[in-house]
Amino acid sequence: MRTAIIGGGIAGLAAAYELEKARAAGAAVEYTLFEARERLGGVLASETVRGTVLERGPDSFISEKPAAAELCRELGLGDQLTPSNDVARKTYVVVRNKLVPLPDGLMFLVPTKLIPTALTRLFSPMTKVRMALELLHPPRPSGHDEAVATLVERHFGAEAVDRLADPLLSGIFGGDSSQLSARAVLPRLVEMETKYGSLTRGMLAAHRQMRARAASLGGTKNQGNGRTAPRGIFTTLRGGLQQLVDTLEARLEPAWVRRSTPVNGLGKTESGWQVRAGGATEIYDAVVMASPAWAAGVLLGEVDAELGNELSGIPYSSSITLNLVYDEAKLGRLPDGFGFLVPASERRSMLACTFVHRKFLGRTPPGKAVLRAFLGGMNNEALLAETDAALVATVRRELSEILGEKIIASHVEPEVAQVSRWQRAMAQYSVGHQDRIQRITARVAALPGLRLAGNAYDGIGIPDCIRLGRKAAKELIAGFATASRS
Ligand SMILES: Cc1cc2nc3c(=O)[nH]c(=O)nc-3n(C[C@H](O)[C@H](O)[C@H](O)COP(=O)(O)OP(=O)(O)OC[C@H]3O[C@@H](n4cnc5c(N)ncnc54)[C@H](O)[C@@H]3O)c2cc1C
Repeated sequence: MRTAIIGGGIAGLAAAYELEKARAAGAAVEYTLFEARERLGGVLASETVRGTVLERGPDSFISEKPAAAELCRELGLGDQLTPSNDVARKTYVVVRNKLVPLPDGLMFLVPTKLIPTALTRLFSPMTKVRMALELLHPPRPSGHDEAVATLVERHFGAEAVDRLADPLLSGIFGGDSSQLSARAVLPRLVEMETKYGSLTRGMLAAHRQMRARAASLGGTKNQGNGRTAPRGIFTTLRGGLQQLVDTLEARLEPAWVRRSTPVNGLGKTESGWQVRAGGATEIYDAVVMASPAWAAGVLLGEVDAELGNELSGIPYSSSITLNLVYDEAKLGRLPDGFGFLVPASERRSMLACTFVHRKFLGRTPPGKAVLRAFLGGMNNEALLAETDAALVATVRRELSEILGEKIIASHVEPEVAQVSRWQRAMAQYSVGHQDRIQRITARVAALPGLRLAGNAYDGIGIPDCIRLGRKAAKELIAGFATASRS
């Protein structure tokens, strides 16, 4: 089976790795990985500058989803896995230029602890009363999909959207809670509303079940003192996520990896697929489409116009990350915690800022502080056109205004300032996303040998992209084995 993989981000790399494994095990499998850019990895890109690991794209993956850590272990990177330093976990929200900590007990936007919710400065007394009354919400039959903001507002009020849902979703995914699909982005909350009515009651019940399960399993990792070892909510690699890209690349057959080779045409014949790239057309039995959906839409539109339209209809947001490395002594003491989120109502360019040296230990030399700002998102695309110098100046000014002159006066020069732009890199699961995916799945099923993988379909994070990439390759291998036997 000859497979063309289009796109060498983490999804395409995971698919190529799976095909390579099958080949090494003796299957009659060949593959070509086409990547438009000079480097592989897509948005995964890190480098070590003066002993400090700087992530240009994602900085970690969520530990709860196993696919990424599993792949790292399989590749021999198990000893490089680094959990987030959760003892220091505290996140703030900027409210009128002041940092207000997220109250303890928040789970997926849902407050579950009475006293921290009652005492927090994040919400007004009116919102707190609403949060208490939320416990009385009756179950609601699941109807049409709706925006995350609509769901959250129905339960906790508009202030919870402004100060919680919106900053969390835009600070993580550059998304807009008034556009994002509740069903696709927060399916657990939709299920809880149907079953329990109150999201707080649903979350507490889920938490009790989780604890009972963990107790019946005797804990994940017993330390011998009866306690379970704390696992970080996030996991990264000691030397940066680039380690995963480099290790995957090293496993592939070099002659079958074509960098700087965008696929610019696709055709379907009776027996297979025509792939046009680098001025030549080659024939393949199968295609794993692992480019962003907007690029996939153009290519697959040549084969099935309807499929092309559906793929092109998936919105994407663009973003900017900006790493600033400081001498901690000059910078002054930052507030405790991992960083802060900035609600849109604050009218700033920054959406979020992470104190990287606190979040992951061992990746920053002692005495250095790394502040990573995240900008852009659905409502701030224009920022991408600004120069690096202008962006650095904006972030330094906003940091000073938010953190206070004593902590980071704009005149303290960063030792390193690194700007990365990610144009249309994050798919947005807008209202109706799951229906669109069903339509896409039906059309793909009518095109034998085609699989889609990447962040546009069933999970935006790294673990989901890896899972989908590997699944696509495994399905093709299994289908090929069945066809060869018959
Ligand atoms: C700034 C940022 C921060 C993020 N932070 C996190 C995080 O902390 N944790 C997390 O889990 N996720 C995070 N994400 C999301 C996650 O990193 C991405 O969703 C995921 O890495 C996407 O992988 P992918 O392979 O689907 O796409 P991409 O990485 O976009 O790769 C697609 C590849 O296809 C190539 N391509 C496009 N067209 C063609 C063509 N015609 N021919 C050949 N190649 C083509 C592109 O050049 C690209 O390399 C973040 C994303 C961004 C942008």
